[in-house]
Amino acid sequence: MIITLKKSSKQKDVAAVTDKIKAFGYMPHVSEGKDVTIIGMIGEYAEKHKEAFEAMDAVEHVSEIQKPYKLASRDFKKENTIVKISKNVEIGGKKIHVIAGPCAIESKELMFNTAKIVKDAGASILRGGAYKPRSSPYAFQGLGERGLKYLRDSSLKLHMPTISEAMTVEQVDLLSNYCDIIQLGARNIQNYDLLKAVGKQKKPVLLKRGMATTIKELLLSAEYILSQGNYNVILCERGIRTFETATRFTMDLNAVPVLKKLSHLPVVLDPSHGIGIREHVGTMAKACIAVGADGLIIEVHPQPELALSDGPQSLLPDQFKDMMKELDLIAKAVGRELLD
Ligand code: PEP
Ligand code: MN
Repeated sequence: MIITLKKSSKQKDVAAVTDKIKAFGYMPHVSEGKDVTIIGMIGEYAEKHKEAFEAMDAVEHVSEIQKPYKLASRDFKKENTIVKISKNVEIGGKKIHVIAGPCAIESKELMFNTAKIVKDAGASILRGGAYKPRSSPYAFQGLGERGLKYLRDSSLKLHMPTISEAMTVEQVDLLSNYCDIIQLGARNIQNYDLLKAVGKQKKPVLLKRGMATTIKELLLSAEYILSQGNYNVILCERGIRTFETATRFTMDLNAVPVLKKLSHLPVVLDPSHGIGIREHVGTMAKACIAVGADGLIIEVHPQPELALSDGPQSLLPDQFKDMMKELDLIAKAVGRELLD
């Protein structure tokens, strides 16, 4: 249930309510909006205590959230969530941030060269997988911690925040030491222990929708992270499985307006995996911005024919550069910004 405080409420009123929530054995979730403060008390039997809060002076009203996801829902928080990544990078505001880099970190040189290319073209966050979820056990599995060192090295030299994927609970601490955002991949969206583990640490999490996950299930997975106290969650649409085989996945652009209506969390789109075909990634990236993306993830490789992972969908440096200029125009047309 959610407890809405009176507009006149002070910090001490917030503390009184959160103390009471803790005394009942629940974890309080505070959402300080522009006008009102809402405090969530979520969990089985929470409603049993409704009257105890209604009786408090500072409380305006107490209501139940009907949706199965609570903290992820617009009912809990009216304003869009803006996730702060670094001093200059925030996802969910007016500026659309482009996350770019190779699918996998392959070597120190490849990581740095690609990082330099994407930074010069206007990307603000560096991507690169060190632990790769591959369909085949014989395919390149990633460089592990050595790869994360290369990613960090590029990040320090170029002053760019980074993102990389954690595939297991054990990798979460390591990833949070090396990166600014932890990515949870499509194949792990219903790995509930992993969701809880990233919820217990502080780094922002980019949660990719599974290829057979409904919007409701995506929001419930986000709820797992939020329920542990980490409110810095970014949703990511990256294509779903349909009967279509001409493209790698089917980019569900429908998900964007729907997610934005149901949830306050920012939504980033991944047209690289969504379509899986290099020559069409730029076209789909434009569509992603038109439909309301707060950010994009794009795979880039200086020599995609030699890439150890996802070469066919990786943009060539010039393609990326040209695409960024076109995306800037679309961003402006929808009242957003992309390039500085
Ligand atoms: C990736 O970003 O390289 C990746 C493996 O993504 P997904 O989990 O969406 O397949
Ligand atoms: Mn990839």
